[in-house]
Amino acid sequence: MRRITVVENILKANDAIARANRDRLDKHGVVAMNWLSSPGTGKTTLLEKTLPALEQRAVRPAVIEGDIQTTRDAERIDALGVPVVQITTGGACHLNASMVKQALDELALDELDLVIIENVGNLVCPADISLGEHLTAVLLSVTEGHDKPLKYPLAFRVAHAMAITKTDLIPYTDFELGEARKFALQINPELRIVETSCYKEVGIEEWADWIVESSQFKTEGS
Ligand code: MG
Ligand code: ZN
Repeated sequence: MRRITVVENILKANDAIARANRDRLDKHGVVAMNWLSSPGTGKTTLLEKTLPALEQRAVRPAVIEGDIQTTRDAERIDALGVPVVQITTGGACHLNASMVKQALDELALDELDLVIIENVGNLVCPADISLGEHLTAVLLSVTEGHDKPLKYPLAFRVAHAMAITKTDLIPYTDFELGEARKFALQINPELRIVETSCYKEVGIEEWADWIVESSQFKTEGS
């Protein structure tokens, strides 16, 4: 009992900070989107393709990069000239609202429309820990298996959209797109599903369109 109480209190404290993050973002008219996936699904690679597509749509993005140890992913975003803040969790397997609060301190929110938070590669606890985000996206790569939505239902339930990544590799796997769609929609009938291949440049425009449509940016003509 005692232990359950402690966990609840930690989650409650996190939720209070998450609400403050959300209020702060709303005040600046900035939408935050939390990207969840297992390690190695290609979150950073999809970001590298998506960010220029968003800029073409007059969206001003920034990225918060969550990694356990290295700054390699943040360097890749920095190379695109997009504002990026690195959170190195030093071993923790997820971001929390307090880490994101500190990252928001480093961003010029008045000059932004969208903050994409690349969470630590992990489909379990990040799905349960609010950061103050408005939208959640989950990535599923074809090298993982189409039954992942059934194995990790929470991440697919909290998500607004799912990007299926690396579809160019389907011929070399047992991955079945129809099954992946069916299982994901079984968990979350509202889920928007976009098939992408960064290598073949497939689905990037559709993915960027979804982000713009779902974000409903409040900025005036920027
Ligand atoms: Mg990454
Ligand atoms: Zn964790």
